[in-house]
Amino acid sequence: MEIGVLALQGNFDDHISALQALEVKATQVRLPKQLLGLNGLIIPGGESTVIGKLATEFGLIDALREFGQLHAIWGTCAGAILMSKTAGNPQPLLQLMDIQVERNAYGRQIDSFEELLDIQCLEKMGGENPLYRAVFIRAPRIHSVGSKVNVLARSAKGEIVAAQQGHFLATTFHPEITNDLRLHQYFLALTHITKT
Ligand code: GLN
Repeated sequence: MEIGVLALQGNFDDHISALQALEVKATQVRLPKQLLGLNGLIIPGGESTVIGKLATEFGLIDALREFGQLHAIWGTCAGAILMSKTAGNPQPLLQLMDIQVERNAYGRQIDSFEELLDIQCLEKMGGENPLYRAVFIRAPRIHSVGSKVNVLARSAKGEIVAAQQGHFLATTFHPEITNDLRLHQYFLALTHITKT
């Protein structure tokens, strides 16, 4: 098992540490050829406009779309924006998931917050505890999802904060900055699904 982490900008290091803590080989991806042989890919949080611009320059937009035909991809925060169909802003998107997002929907950096989420699918990851402490940093809001998309978690206000479409995952928070590895484990299980 080898998982790539898109390493153009943003918080890719902590995703690599989380994967290594799960004893999974983790590789930084900056070029299309580095996708070869990977079982899945994580797109980290950061600045989606910068990640999209660099991905365009490095020829990664089409390469990632093609990779996604057969492999699991998880977008966290800015990564979730890249996975979306529309982001209310003209910027490069992979458009792999039928989700519509609004960027910076909760305000600026100082409006970042934490919330205890009830993520039922985590019960399968052992411990029978669906509660998950999520950190939101200038997070996007998923304001609508298509019929093939499964909502995995909502915030206390009812906003969609985690969604799955086959082997694609989007979370609007940062699972790599807490010590809870269950969402990474959940994603690893998705690498065995090969069809949306
Ligand atoms: N606000 C950022 C964007 O629009 C996302 C923030 C994050 O990834 N923490 O891309």
